[in-house]
Amino acid sequence: MKKPKKFDLIGAAMLKWYEVHARDFPWRRTDDPYAIWVSEIMLQQTQAGTMVDYYERFLQRFPDVRRLARAPLDRVLKVWEGLGYYSRARNLHQAAKVVVADYEGELPGTVDELRTLPGIGRYTAGAMASIAFGRDEPVLDGNVMRVLSRLFRVREEVKKTKVQKRMWDWAGQLVPAGYAGEFNQGMMELGATVCRPKLPNCEICPVVKFCLAAKHGEQDRIPVKKKKKPIPHYTIAAGVVWKRGRILIDQRKADGLLGGLWEFPGGKRQKNEPLVDTVKREIKEELDIEIEVVQRMGVVKHAYSHFRITLHVFECRYVAGQVRAIGCDDWKWIWPGDLERYAFPTANRKIIRMLMSE
Ligand code: SF4
Repeated sequence: MKKPKKFDLIGAAMLKWYEVHARDFPWRRTDDPYAIWVSEIMLQQTQAGTMVDYYERFLQRFPDVRRLARAPLDRVLKVWEGLGYYSRARNLHQAAKVVVADYEGELPGTVDELRTLPGIGRYTAGAMASIAFGRDEPVLDGNVMRVLSRLFRVREEVKKTKVQKRMWDWAGQLVPAGYAGEFNQGMMELGATVCRPKLPNCEICPVVKFCLAAKHGEQDRIPVKKKKKPIPHYTIAAGVVWKRGRILIDQRKADGLLGGLWEFPGGKRQKNEPLVDTVKREIKEELDIEIEVVQRMGVVKHAYSHFRITLHVFECRYVAGQVRAIGCDDWKWIWPGDLERYAFPTANRKIIRMLMSE
């Protein structure tokens, strides 16, 4: 079926606009598929401006896929520390091993092959195939979805399967042959800088004359999203357990939330449980040892994407028992000066700062 002329005009307007307005990021100055891959994985949950330092540091430490594949996961997580959504780092590391083992260290260039790698879904495969390999493949991320839903005035909930399918079709038809990389990046850039979630800047938008939401004054009602559920809150108690000058840390299970990161042992408070009992019980369940609480150290508040925590921190002393990794993958007694060598979640980093400022 022949595509409507409007699609070609939108494609051309976007290319022209992107040529002038593309922000300068280091991953836009390279054609190395590995570097583009790293940037795309980081961009999945992080804003471009925030991740520049992480991106540069990551490439300094792991400049190619072979070096990433050879590195221990602990080192990869340490470089990723603070960026969050750590399954991205674990998958990137795993996928690097697959690329070395099955593709002789060269990333594959088709969407189908890319999608077989851990951590690469339809969006990332499309982005890599178009940006790194020049294939005419579309992308659909949150930014593109917002632009398309407004351009075509989608008044249904955008996450519905049939709406998603329609948007992938539009995204595919809009791609100007031979320029998918530039077009896709242009759409994402427009979503990030002009067609923002709130108060889109339609006056400077290169596709305003084609935009049905702008025509009907419905930009603030589109995209239609499901109402968010309230974010749950958990009270956690954790212990900094000392034994002859060293501190006990444990490594979270690889397959769970924040998997592979190190932490101070502890866990969720049960209903009406005194916090001191929570920390003792959790440490017994996790590591099979008895501790006593010496004093309260402080409180850390932290918000994750799907929940919030209030973390009560206690200074504790080891009392008895042989440490065993029951609710974790590993454990260590370490000197305080060695804390910097391990990757900790952000909330635990706040405990380390508390510890160091004492
Ligand atoms: Fe978004 Fe406004 Fe452009 Fe439409 S005209 S795509 S709402 S910025």
